[in-house]
Amino acid sequence: MTDILSLATGVPYLAIPGPSVVPDQVLRAMHHHSSNIYEGPLVDMVPTLVQDLKRVARTNQNAAIYICNGHGLWEASLENVTSVGDRVLVACNGRFAVGWAETARKLGLVVEEVDSGMATPWNMDRLRAALVADKAHEIKALMAVHVDTSGSIRNDVPSLRALLDDVGHPALLMMDCIASMGCETFEMDAWGVDVAITASQKGLMMPPGLGFVFFSEKAAERRRAQERVSPYWDWSARSNPDVFYQYFCGTAPVQQLYGLRAALDMIHDEGIERVWKRHAVLARSIWAAVDAWGQGGPMRLDVVDPAQRSHAVTSLRLDAPDGTRLRKWCEANLGLTLGIGLRATPWGDPEWDAHFRFGHMGYVNGHMILGLLGGVETGLTACDIAHGPGAIEAAAQVLAQTQ
Ligand SMILES: *Cc1c(COP(=O)(O)O)cnc(C)c1O
Repeated sequence: MTDILSLATGVPYLAIPGPSVVPDQVLRAMHHHSSNIYEGPLVDMVPTLVQDLKRVARTNQNAAIYICNGHGLWEASLENVTSVGDRVLVACNGRFAVGWAETARKLGLVVEEVDSGMATPWNMDRLRAALVADKAHEIKALMAVHVDTSGSIRNDVPSLRALLDDVGHPALLMMDCIASMGCETFEMDAWGVDVAITASQKGLMMPPGLGFVFFSEKAAERRRAQERVSPYWDWSARSNPDVFYQYFCGTAPVQQLYGLRAALDMIHDEGIERVWKRHAVLARSIWAAVDAWGQGGPMRLDVVDPAQRSHAVTSLRLDAPDGTRLRKWCEANLGLTLGIGLRATPWGDPEWDAHFRFGHMGYVNGHMILGLLGGVETGLTACDIAHGPGAIEAAAQVLAQTQ
């Protein structure tokens, strides 16, 4: 018991960019006794999950499911199409592309990074130069992140396909869609993506623990030409099993699969294109609020150009250390948890305490976003951080004009 009144009792709102809010329907579906993993309903259900996952990724090609988080997917994807000593090129604009590049290096690959900073588009000139210089076509893959969850930039995936085609380079196009899938428009086949990875705990509205790799026929051929692939990460049997046990290279994650069935039903009942539009409108309402706050204070969105901003995560800043102060106040007093800033600089750098993030991926609607924005408005007031008026009205205007 404390004498200080807190307003935090009630439904907590975890507005960080993953794990995201898990719907009650999904939680309830996961409250399930263990099933027979050799025959029966679970065995019959998994092919429907694969089919419906492919509808989210917009591919008619291949999919494999893993029991792992995003870091596992970074390894799973590379392990199937590269070998020690192979070269890869990574387009970086945020912490996550840098993280995938570090993983590639630790797997023994020769990694070239073209880094354009935290919140600016890829450097297409330098990427082109790197591909053109590779006359022998030693670069096996061009790797990049669709939405980089740290600075919250949304990248133009088709521009990488166009670049590879334009210079006639056969590298696989590999995309990390962990923050974006189920939130942002993504068209794996139409955009010519060879490998797309995503995890369960963001736009797919699930707890962490499941990972998905989608891969093209070209990537499948690459896998077949590999001399050695780690048996756990090998996608061959997972995507085309002779017996059910091979889907998961061992025991199926039974309860998670029932949850996934419920989550995919929700996505496809709403319609994936409507899901994308919902995220876009909610994101615009957030930007409108931040613009209003910024009129009378230091708050700024990290990505300047609206066309390059994610619809799933928003990174923003105040003057250090007010980002951290605001976050802590909202959590302690309102039950609203905002995301920490993730920067390229080392921990402890003041930049970390300037930045913070909103996660708005998956199971998020208008009243939740208004609660988020109202919470931030309250925190700014309580922490005595300068801000302009009219933010909530500006957000409401955007939401009111949806139809
Ligand atoms: C969350 C995230 C990851 C890492 O996923 P973990 O499950 O935390 O390992 C990788 N890439 C992107 C773009 C992400 O948003």
